Order: sequence, then structure tokens, then C-alpha cells
Amino acid sequence: MIPQPHNPLALQPHAQPRSVTVLGATGSIGASTAKLLALHRGSFRVEALTAYDNVASLVEQAKLLGARRAVIGNEAHYMELKSALAGTSIEAAAGADAVIEAARMPSDIVIAGIVGAAGLMPTLAAIQRGATVALANKECLVCAGSLMMEEVKRHNATLLPVDSEHSAIFQVFDFERPETIEKIILTASGGPFRTFTREQMKNVTPEQAVRHPNWSMGAKISIDSATMMNKALEIIEASHLFPLPHEQIEVLVHPESIIHSMVSYVDGSVLAQLGTPDMCTPIAYALAWPARIASPSAKLDFTTLKSLTFEASDTKRFPALRLAREVLAAGGNASVVFNAANEIAVARFLRKEIAFLDIVAIIEKTLADVANSPLRRIEDVIEADTQSRVVAENTHV
Ligand code: NDP
Ligand code: MG
Repeated sequence: MIPQPHNPLALQPHAQPRSVTVLGATGSIGASTAKLLALHRGSFRVEALTAYDNVASLVEQAKLLGARRAVIGNEAHYMELKSALAGTSIEAAAGADAVIEAARMPSDIVIAGIVGAAGLMPTLAAIQRGATVALANKECLVCAGSLMMEEVKRHNATLLPVDSEHSAIFQVFDFERPETIEKIILTASGGPFRTFTREQMKNVTPEQAVRHPNWSMGAKISIDSATMMNKALEIIEASHLFPLPHEQIEVLVHPESIIHSMVSYVDGSVLAQLGTPDMCTPIAYALAWPARIASPSAKLDFTTLKSLTFEASDTKRFPALRLAREVLAAGGNASVVFNAANEIAVARFLRKEIAFLDIVAIIEKTLADVANSPLRRIEDVIEADTQSRVVAENTHV
């Protein structure tokens, strides 16, 4: 369940400092989180930081933030991590289970910043101990959505969206009166190929595709923005986070990325959250919720904002948006297949094995080739994910 913000006047100050675990500390979300933790040293204590391969950056961050434990997902790096931490009091651990264990260790807040379905089990472990989870890792909610939301309820965990659109909606959504909401408007920058024809998209390179016009992000989500799979995943993410059917979740292209999303009410009021495109703002919001803390992101200067523009989204040029609705209508394991096929197709595109337009074509073909089946347990998610990856890896279009 998404928590209701309490009456701020009745708020008890947080026990200080609050302890934080960062899953995916070496990534783009991890780096923004580290900036905030360094800025608010007295207010937060770092319990554990995790990464997969990047030992050097993990060690640097662990030392800088005084973490109690540093965990590297790739077991092969254990000795390197251990020797880099020699002479410090920081504990070293390695392997996929150690990442899950780090999420399970007591801490007030867990930042779920791992990329892809690889973040599913660690995020779930944090939820199952009733933690406050600041969720950036949208893929795990896309895959395990209903099961994950049930676990949030069962374990009385708190799930706070970090994805900028969902953080924006969370800030203006009246959870007590959802019937007064006409629709959610998810804004989308349109990515680097917003104005391209399909013909022009045919030969774009990974280097062009990762160059996002407004946001600085990891490679995978940058490609997702270029195909608009990111927005497709975000429609599914929103459908789990907010009590509205997907027909009431609209996508609006807003190239300046200043309005991070909006909620439209039945009386004609539209509430929006605005800010410069910097993930420090939604991360700061989740770290301090329901209070607020300062963030290093640049402040909006309305006098220099030339214009805010909007365009309808185009499902013909960006069929990922159409597929998201089909996936939601199909239910069962379709969202797992959708996500897994995308992860594989993006990796193949980054390795220059396939062309840009093949990414979504492979996803569509994988959806057609993997049989739909219900998701009753988390094992069903893992099975569908594994199977879809094999199919997508061997799909040619
Ligand atoms: P990055 O690729 O920059 O970072 C990914 C992080 O996950 C790294 O710390 C990486 O470790 C770690 N990681 C990768 N694979 C594994 C694995 N198998 N097991 C454990 N850890 C792993 O990604 P981003 O920070 O850009 O994105 C993270 C998540 O946040 C994604 O789900 C993305 O969609 C979401 N998000 C990101 C935004 C952004 O601005 N970047 C905005 C909104 C949402 P290592 O460095 O060692 O490889
Ligand atoms: Mg987003």
C-alpha cells in the first residue's frame, strides 16, 4: 500500500540519524543518493552499499560515506573488495545472496537503485522486513507488481516512488479521495528521437540513443527513453502504485521535462509537480518523507523559462506505448515477458548486434512466442523472466 502522508503538524521528528541502505550505489541513482547523503551527513547513517562489478567506485563511496558494509554482487571480485577495504572498519561481502542479505539487514530506508529485474529479490527482501523502500528500480515492480504490492501490505512496508513522474504524482495524488481523480498525466520528454520518423530511426547508433536531451542516466534507461519503453514501463509502474486503471493513465510529451507529471481532478483542477530535471529532487523527497530536505539540484527560475510545450504521444512511431496497454490487458506473465525481452534487446543493441527499431520488434515477437500463464508466486516471475530472456536472445526480426 502506498502510505498516506500524515498530518505534518502531528509529525514526530525522525529518530536521528536515519539509517540507509543503497542497492545499486555505483549507478546514476546511487551517485545522486550519495550526493544527498554527503550533504546531510548528520541526518543519515549508511548501513550498506551494494554494486555489481564496480569495486573502485563502491570502495570510494563506502569510505566517503562511512558505510558499515560494502557488498559486491559479482562474487569474482570478493578478494579485490576485501583488500581494498583492508585497514578500514567496513565489512566486505560478495555474491547475489549477500546483496539480498544487505537489503534484509535492519535499516530505516532502502534505496532500490539496481537496474533491471536483478533488483527484484533484494527489493522484495527489504519489503518483507517492513522497511521503507524508495523505489527507483521500476523493472521489479513491472515484473512482480501485484505480488510485490501484496507483500508491501502484508509486511506493513512503506513504498515511496523515486521515479520522477511517480514521485510527482505521489506528491499531488489525493489517496483519500481517489474517486475525485479523472486521470493521471505522465509526462515524457520524448527522448532523443522525439522528432524522428521511423525511417530516420532505422540507423541510429547506441551512442546517439544514450544521449538523452534532459536527463543524465544509466545506459539501459537512456535507451528505454529513446524507444519510449521507459514510458511504457512507467505506465505499468503507475498502474501498480496508484489505484486507477490504465485507461486513466495518459502519456503527454513535454520536451522540457519541467513538469514531472500531473493529476487531473473531476472539477477541472490539474495539480502538477515541477522542478529542474535532476533525480536529487525525487530522491531527497523519498529520503526525508514526509518532511523535506535541501537538495543540490538547481532551482527553477521561472523568469528564464522560455516556454513549456506539450505534444500528444505517438504510438505509431513509438509502438512500445501501445504494447504496454496490451500487456496490462493480457495480465498474467505478460509484463514479465515485456520487461525481460526489453532488457535482452537493449543489451543486444548496445553490443551492436541489432538495429534500434529491432528492440521493440523483438519485444513484440517475444510476447507472441511466450505463452501467457498466471503469476501466483514469485517463482513464477523468475521462471517467466528466465524463459523470456532465452526467447528474446534467439529472436531475429
Ligand atoms: P545504472 O546502470 O547507472 O546503475 C545500476 C546499478 O545497479 C549499479 O550500481 C550496478 O552496479 C548495479 N547492478 C547492475 N546489475 C546488477 C546485478 N545483477 N546485481 C546487483 N546490482 C547490479 O542505472 P541507473 O542508476 O540509471 O538506474 C537504476 C534504476 O533506477 C533503473 O531501474 C532505472 O530504470 C531507475 N531510474 C533511473 C533514473 C536515472 O535518472 N538514472 C530515473 C528514474 C528511474 P555496477 O555499477 O557495479 O555495475
Ligand atoms: Mg521516469
